[in-house]
Amino acid sequence: MNIKDLVPTPELRRARNVLVIFPHPDDAELVAGGTVALLTGEGATVTYAPVTDGGMGSFDPRASREEVSRLRRKEQAEAAGILGVSHIEWLGFEDGRVPEPETLRKSMVSLIRRVRPDFVITLDPWLPYEAHPDHRRTAMAAVEACLFAPLPLAYPEDLDKGFLPWQVTGIALALSTHPNTFINIEKTWDKKIQAILCHRSQFPEEVWNTFFPYILAKSQEYGKEIGAKVAEVFKVLSPTHLHVMVDTWRV
Ligand SMILES: [Zn+2]
Repeated sequence: MNIKDLVPTPELRRARNVLVIFPHPDDAELVAGGTVALLTGEGATVTYAPVTDGGMGSFDPRASREEVSRLRRKEQAEAAGILGVSHIEWLGFEDGRVPEPETLRKSMVSLIRRVRPDFVITLDPWLPYEAHPDHRRTAMAAVEACLFAPLPLAYPEDLDKGFLPWQVTGIALALSTHPNTFINIEKTWDKKIQAILCHRSQFPEEVWNTFFPYILAKSQEYGKEIGAKVAEVFKVLSPTHLHVMVDTWRV
């Protein structure tokens, strides 16, 4: 028996209700914007869950957190609109002060039980050189939440509110160093770039001029693997891969 048949890798392209959990406005567009646009174009419902409002995202010493977060919420809503994202669920944590996964995952479990997604897209929590605590904690809490959401005795207060246990089919980890799923985003590349550029506060011209060649080169390199001009990549796993059969992660 082939282990791939025993624990099949779920197919991201077949997802029809997707929850994207990410730390800051702009992260989702950068790592998964092309895939999100493809999915919504094929009829999927996509909900964004930014953990913070990005209120620390400014180099201007005169800027206030309130001003920055107001602007970034607006930019995020605009970007989501371009990609066909229908709902944004702001989790309301402070940028730069995202708590440890143990505290954070409660709100994600509730969210998963409310949205009932077949797929969760988040960042890969096992990136060897990721230094930003918001990124590490968000990603780890999101995968933990996928494991806890189906268990009625985990955060049982949700059940009283009518949010019933929910099992996701697949978890797609973006920016993975061990991707197993390459998505051709030629058709949605322009939308992805347009959506990234909605985050005007983060990509003024001088930043964009150095950042764009990076994102293009990376997308082209991924694309080569599948004979496409540009691609996004994910490590796609089922909840079983993430706990019960953790030694099958290479499939
Ligand atoms: Zn970020």
